[in-house]
Amino acid sequence: MATVATGPSSERLSSFNPATGELIASVPIHTGAEVDAVVARARIAAQTWGTRSFEARSEELTAFRKALAAHADELADLIHRENGKPELEALTEVMMALGHVQHATGRAETAMEPRRVSAGLLANYRATISYHPLGVIGVIGPWNYPLFTPMGSIAYALAAGNAVVWKPSELTPLVAVRVAEIAAKTFALPDLLQVVTGAGSTGAALARSAVDKVAFTGSAATGKRVMMAAAERLTPVLLELGGKDPMIIADDADVEKAAEACVYGALTNTGQACISVERVYVADALHDRFVTAVVDEVRKLKVGGDDGHLGAMTSAAQVAIVKDHLEDAVAKGAKVHTGGPDAISGNYIQPTVLTGVDHRMKVMSDETFGPVIPIQRVASLDEAVQLANDTTYGLGSSVFAGKAARSIAKRLRAGMTSINSVMGFAGIPSLPFGGIGDSGFGRIHGDEGIREFTRIKSTAEQVMSIPMNMMSFRQPKNMPKQIRGMIKQLYGEGVVAKAGDFLRKLRG
Ligand code: NAD
Repeated sequence: MATVATGPSSERLSSFNPATGELIASVPIHTGAEVDAVVARARIAAQTWGTRSFEARSEELTAFRKALAAHADELADLIHRENGKPELEALTEVMMALGHVQHATGRAETAMEPRRVSAGLLANYRATISYHPLGVIGVIGPWNYPLFTPMGSIAYALAAGNAVVWKPSELTPLVAVRVAEIAAKTFALPDLLQVVTGAGSTGAALARSAVDKVAFTGSAATGKRVMMAAAERLTPVLLELGGKDPMIIADDADVEKAAEACVYGALTNTGQACISVERVYVADALHDRFVTAVVDEVRKLKVGGDDGHLGAMTSAAQVAIVKDHLEDAVAKGAKVHTGGPDAISGNYIQPTVLTGVDHRMKVMSDETFGPVIPIQRVASLDEAVQLANDTTYGLGSSVFAGKAARSIAKRLRAGMTSINSVMGFAGIPSLPFGGIGDSGFGRIHGDEGIREFTRIKSTAEQVMSIPMNMMSFRQPKNMPKQIRGMIKQLYGEGVVAKAGDFLRKLRG
């Protein structure tokens, strides 16, 4: 829970612990003018950082990673207190974020290595593609993974040679402020990674500012607003939005393993993950055994307390959405096996297993973002795939199956799929992460995630002259005839000659 003070810019944003309601600290609400000034300072840092060698950048990023690792307990404690997740999950988040800093640092040079490509018909040219930093990247983050998620953009943007201005969620600003303090002490350029704080209006100011790209993570509705604000300057955007990730269990799946993974995938972070398992389709033959296994597993979990598996929900607003989805499902005939709409107390929701669900229910169509496992029985794999793809989202997905696993995975319309596991793709830093449709576009992580924060430059260098110079008005009289011959030979029927061979023939 956090409140945003209204009034002049001297007022502040308070961050509260959602488990206890305790005020943790407050941060400034940055105005548009303040955001612009921060971006201007970042631009100066970017000009130096972008011209440094990969080796020099790698040295500083490694020092930054080590400094963050040295503060791991403090960062995890802030995440735990601001977001409400248990300490174990907060520490895991810090570890995963550090993994991305390390990966991006190590891969940047390779991912941005200039590539020589075929010059095609212009065989006397040397054709090269090279990658260059964009300048300043605005990163707007969510509250559910307040460090890991933004770091998936920040680390890659920095490693690619950019400066970063980060606007964390108003529900979890403190961890970002602490990371920025550590960055200012570690990097030789103190403005390389800066944080601006505030609610939507500060985010909107960043999207409208003179940044060279906006990397946004949050809801689809806000993503559209960010894209509209960025359009004012034609600033490119990367959108990591929500999801309604399906899980398919085929009739030859290992029921116990599938149930264990399903429960973790749906309930980790109290179900507040963009790649949470949000709906499950189970083959008829396995349905009852699977439901029993899931319910048994869920009953072993503890909600709240220092050793709890599930923490407090981060905001009362999210609790209200989950309650609404559960009430809607029950009203439309879903059966509650554990939890349910009445098992909600303050910001704590008992994990809920539902069966007898269908796509008329919000719990199967809208992002629930809470500790809910709705399980639907399916008559065939075709039906499972059709239902899994019946969504405007397309972020993650998972399949538990024997021999058909890969072919099912291939048919899922999603940015990422785990086979015989959940969320596996998020733990592998070399795999690009992102979605399609209402889940957004662009990719973080992997080499694609590094190149996402670069501009592509194409260079065509003429390395030798040839008699037939197409880039000139000085052409022989018979040029039309030669061109006709070329069209026939290069692109007409029955032709096998490659452009280069043809040109060599012309050259004699
Ligand atoms: P949100 O859209 O409410 O807010 C996200 C951020 O945008 C916050 O920092 C907020 O202050 C800022 N913001 C709000 N209005 C703005 C505006 N007009 N212009 C610019 N910025 C603005 O999302 P949330 O509730 O913080 O996060 C939950 C959502 O994020 C879920 O839908 C979840 O699925 C998604 N998410 C996606 C990923 C991913 O990688 N795809 C990861 C984590 C979360």
